[in-house]
Order: sequence, then structure tokens, then C-alpha cells
Amino acid sequence: MESTNEKRMNESYRGSRMPALFIGHGSPMNIVQQNEFTKSLEEVKKKLPKPDCILVISAHWMTKGTYVTCSENLIQGFDFYGFPDELYRVQYNPKGSPDCARSVIQLSGPEGRIKCDYSRGLDHGSWAILKVLFPEADVPVIQMSIDQTKPPEYHYKLASKLSILRDRKILVIGSGNIVHNLRSIDFKDMDAEPFSWAVEFDMKVKGFLKDKMHSELLNYKQLGNVASMSVPTPEHYLPLLYVIGMQGESDELNFIYEGFQNKAVSMRSFIIG
Ligand code: ZN
Repeated sequence: MESTNEKRMNESYRGSRMPALFIGHGSPMNIVQQNEFTKSLEEVKKKLPKPDCILVISAHWMTKGTYVTCSENLIQGFDFYGFPDELYRVQYNPKGSPDCARSVIQLSGPEGRIKCDYSRGLDHGSWAILKVLFPEADVPVIQMSIDQTKPPEYHYKLASKLSILRDRKILVIGSGNIVHNLRSIDFKDMDAEPFSWAVEFDMKVKGFLKDKMHSELLNYKQLGNVASMSVPTPEHYLPLLYVIGMQGESDELNFIYEGFQNKAVSMRSFIIG
């Protein structure tokens, strides 16, 4: 990371508006590993202001209609299979926040109003990264689902309606992966050389993010084959649209981490604010 970027990051966090983050969460193995990616989260942690509440939009909660967790007690979901036992012993149990959920619902407006969910807890797209960023679990967390029936524009517009949350001391985190091709993943080797189509797509997205080319990010399918290989299903890409949808005119965008894991997963993560 350039030192000028870092300087700007430090300055921007002094404002009252919360930053918003996109984190590439990758394999659940990151939960118990210390690697370059998790180290980058440790670095960001030092610079984050303490929010009143955290709203996570995770790739692992796709629904018909949009829902937000409204209960005060959230059950930690171990929604991954076939991993070492130690991963299933990691505890992360913050409180939920009905108040914070209410703000989200109100801002969504009467049309396409977001609904309350009382049964859902936090999936690993949330807690795996929050346990690094907020290890004390002392900030309430809510999670919002992604409406799988809606096009990219819907998610971007909903994010822009919700962007005022950043002025209410709510930290918004989109948790997914810019490149995520489950069929091509090398589960055995986290450090495997990435596919060329994965690198190409990731670099295009990087350029669009840097130049604030949001319509290109919404129309990522226009990139053709590299897009269909990198985003064969949209759930890991869509959380990114919630973060750029909250980007204001004066918001800087800085990359927290860039790199690949398991040959077909981009861990690129960034912060706006
Ligand atoms: Zn995932």
C-alpha cells in the first residue's frame, strides 16, 4: 500500500461519518490461520473507529425479498462442512440490535420494504471477519440478506438509500469475494497460482473501483468470459455493490488487501470513507 494512501486513510477516519468496508472472506480456513490476508485485517482494525452497530451484508444469506436480523440474540452459524474441528470451536457471539434493524427498515422506504427476520443468526461470512476486526464482540451486529431475484441495480440503489446509516455511527461491511468460482477452487492449496481469467477480472474490477466507474461494476457481465468464469453465481460479488452504493462524492477508496487464495478466489478488500 502506498504511504500517501495510508496517510489519507488515517485522516479520513477522523470524520464523523463511518467508513464502509468490502471484505473478501474466502475460505473458512482463514478463521484459524494467520496469513497476509488476516494480517491486513489486523491492520485495518487499528484504524477503525468504534461504531454503535455493525451491519453486514454477507454472500451466505440469499433470500427472496430482503430481510434484516431483528432479534437481540443471534445464533452463530457454522455454515461450512468438512473443515477441521478447531473451526467449529471458535466462538463469536455479539448481541443483535433491534434498534439498528429498525433504522435499516425505515430507510428502505414503503416500496420494497425490508422485513424482519427473527430466526436467523450470523453466518461465517459475518463472524469469520468480525472476530478479527472486533474480537471483543462488544459491538452489536445485524445482518441483511441479499434478494436473489433482483438485478445489480436494485442492490446498488438500496445501498444508496441506506447510506445515511454511515452518519448514524453504523459500520457497513459487505462480505463476499470479487472472484469466487467454487468449481475451480483448489481446496488443498491456499497459495496456488491463480487462474489468468481470475487475475484479469480482478484487475478490471480494481480499475473500475479506483476510477469510481460504478456503472461498469454493475454491468460486470459485459466483460464476457472472464466475468462468467469469475462470477459464475452472483452471491459473492453482490456485497460489493452495497459498499460502492454507499460511496459519497468525497469518499476515498483504498485497498486493504489484494491477492488470491485457492486459485479461484480473489481476496481483494477495500475501504471507503
Ligand atoms: Zn463465502
